[in-house]
Amino acid sequence: MASERIMLSRVHLSGTERKYIDEAFTDDWVVPLGPHVDEFEHRLERYLGANYVVALSAGTAAIHLGLVLLGVGRGDEVICQSMTFAASCNPIVYQGATPVFVDSEKATINMDPAMLERAIVERHRITGRYPKAIIPVSLYGMPARTDEIMAIADSFGIPVLEDAAEALGSEFDGRKCGTFGTFGVLSFNGNKMITTSGGGALVCPDAETAGRAKFYATQARENRPYYYHETIGYNYRLSNISAAIGCGQMDVIDDRVSRRRRIHDIYTAMLADCPQVTVQDNPDSRYNSNFWLTTIALKDDVAGSADELRLFLAADNIESRLLWRPMHMQPVFADAPYYGGKVAERLFDHGLCLPSGSSLTDDDIARVAERIKLFFRQ
Ligand SMILES: *Cc1c(COP(=O)(O)O)cnc(C)c1O
Repeated sequence: MASERIMLSRVHLSGTERKYIDEAFTDDWVVPLGPHVDEFEHRLERYLGANYVVALSAGTAAIHLGLVLLGVGRGDEVICQSMTFAASCNPIVYQGATPVFVDSEKATINMDPAMLERAIVERHRITGRYPKAIIPVSLYGMPARTDEIMAIADSFGIPVLEDAAEALGSEFDGRKCGTFGTFGVLSFNGNKMITTSGGGALVCPDAETAGRAKFYATQARENRPYYYHETIGYNYRLSNISAAIGCGQMDVIDDRVSRRRRIHDIYTAMLADCPQVTVQDNPDSRYNSNFWLTTIALKDDVAGSADELRLFLAADNIESRLLWRPMHMQPVFADAPYYGGKVAERLFDHGLCLPSGSSLTDDDIARVAERIKLFFRQ
């Protein structure tokens, strides 16, 4: 009999989502916006220690609106970490701007601060202008080198749009990811830390900016008795029903984050005697990843590739995933400038994301770890 399927990151409901959805139905709040959107935003604000969170239809929409609010437009350049999901940088192109990709560094697998600085200086030398924004990402929950990136960005006066889509609950130096840049981005897609079935949020610096975000997210309608538009808008707000699901998820956010961290600890312990792999860990005590996904890297001298390991796990009905293929290696971004070496490329060749959903049991984790060890013994 085939083993039971172990998924990478399954939706994990709290059970209270229904209660909030029922409230919404009872009061006919089956509409975009409504009281659950407000409640969800307030709960996110309290959780993050941030004052202005705007709930949106997707993390991608949040990145796009962040760029709109930063005034990114045609002819501008925006620096983005190369190793990431395409959603981090696609909105740069929506705005008619050009992405400039930067390599990762090994420990966090996120943006390399030295390469960031080099890219800023080089782009200024070549174009006579500084990039309009910087998008660092906290992949798999691991905070980027936040202090160094913020210091470089500040020294050039370039705003940061922090892609914390995978990092809800992660902290750097005691502060939540998503609250460091001018804007922060969260995602509530089905497989992220929490879900609204689909949704995202933009963390804004002040009330006025949050108001602008809501204005653009609701078709940029001016305050007049008829529909009057001075600028292009979007339909990016979160629906009230989705926000009701989000309220149910916020009931258990602390449990979910601690379970993902615990899963990472179990993998680390169980793979300690597997010399062929290293489990990614917080580089030092300032980093506190949510470990949305636990990732491992095959050591350089190991025979076998991450993709072979992935297939070996799949043969036992275990879903794993290669790391994000860097954007500078994607055909669609072949013409975009890239600053860096081969760090992200190597990480892509050697890295694998392990099943890490908070609903996994300790036995599930043990099964994955044993299967990994079996791969290297065969
Ligand atoms: C999921 C994700 C996004 C986009 O979020 P959606 O809600 O799916 O639009 C952006 N960046 C990263 C790194 C992500 O993982």
